[in-house]
Amino acid sequence: MSATVDKEELIKAAFEAKENAYSKYSKFRASVDNASYGETMCAERTAIVKAVSDGVRSFAAIAIVTDVSVAISPCGLCRQVLREFCAADMPVLLVPANYTKQRVDGDSSGGVKEISLGDLLPYSFDT
Ligand SMILES: [Zn+2]
Repeated sequence: MSATVDKEELIKAAFEAKENAYSKYSKFRASVDNASYGETMCAERTAIVKAVSDGVRSFAAIAIVTDVSVAISPCGLCRQVLREFCAADMPVLLVPANYTKQRVDGDSSGGVKEISLGDLLPYSFDT
C-alpha cells in the first residue's frame, strides 16, 4: 500500500530537478548524458540511485517530467530499477511539459497520466 503523496509538491520537485539535467548530447532534459551514449543515465534511475545511496529505501510515488508536451513513460531499464525499490502499486505520474499551462486553462489534471508501476512493468521480477 502506498503512502499518501502531495502530488503537486512531487511534480514541482520533479520540474526543479529537471533544471539540473546534463543533456549535452541528447538535448533531452531528463538524463545525465555521457559522450559514450551507453553510459547516459536517465533521470528516473538517477533519482533512485541517489536516494538509495542516501539511505532511502521506501518510495511513495514518482513524477516523470520532460520538455515534451505529452506525458512520457520511463524506459524499460528505469522501470526495472524502480521495481527493485518500489511497490507494484506505487503511483507513477507522467507529466507533460505544459502541465502548468493546462492547469491554468482548466484541465484539472494538467494532462497528468497516473499509472501504477505494476501496470508499467507487468510480470516484473518481484522483490
Ligand atoms: Zn530510463
